Amino acid sequence: MTDLVLSESLTAARRRLEAALADAGRPAGDAALLAVSKTKPAAMIREAHRLGQRDFGENYVQEALDKQAELADLGDIVWHFIGPLQSNKTRDVAEHFAWVHSLDREKIARRLNDQRSEDLPALNVCLQVNISGEASKSGVSLDELPTLAEAVLGMPRLRLRGLMAIPAPAETLVEQRRPFARLREALEALNARFPEAHLDTLSMGMSGDLEAAVVEGATLVRLGTAIFGERQRFH
Ligand SMILES: *Cc1c(COP(=O)(O)O)cnc(C)c1O
Repeated sequence: MTDLVLSESLTAARRRLEAALADAGRPAGDAALLAVSKTKPAAMIREAHRLGQRDFGENYVQEALDKQAELADLGDIVWHFIGPLQSNKTRDVAEHFAWVHSLDREKIARRLNDQRSEDLPALNVCLQVNISGEASKSGVSLDELPTLAEAVLGMPRLRLRGLMAIPAPAETLVEQRRPFARLREALEALNARFPEAHLDTLSMGMSGDLEAAVVEGATLVRLGTAIFGERQRFH
């Protein structure tokens, strides 16, 4: 992808998000764009950064660390870890990211909490919820969500921000909205149960279902393909 194409696709993605917010009757700027750069080269992240993008999402720890090293001169990138997280990678994530969206187990939370340096701000975390049942193996169930949330709220080096989901693909806007509505209701229920937590983040919506997510209250949409183009490499 050339720089020109990236500037066009990033502009188009920003317009698409603002149009979705307007259609949903929400204020401009009410949801932020997370650029999902997995499998894409550091040069593309640098170009997106030059165009004003600051939040980037990565799925694979080693790939992310390599790109972070290449981009170390850009001091103000906010790195989000959004992929499945294994125990043996928690230290790298605790040390090199500002956010984790894919937290779904207490054991992983404890490790991140123990490994997050006192020199860094608390690690922002979203709990990944398995909102479409059998569609995905990742994510905590709605039943187990309050217990996990309570545990994470007790961890001082983690700052619980909200919920994330990757629903099963659906064709129509109506079908796409259903799981996002469930995630919004789950966040509302947590805020009612833990009012001091002030959970403010719904990480939901990707290139194929951004509009449905925005109608249901997404505050952070995770766009990969729409910004960087199709991915060639699969892990
Ligand atoms: C890859 C990925 C995205 C981006 O998906 P696109 O369909 O390319 O926009 C968003 N969220 C997560 C968790 C991902 O793994």
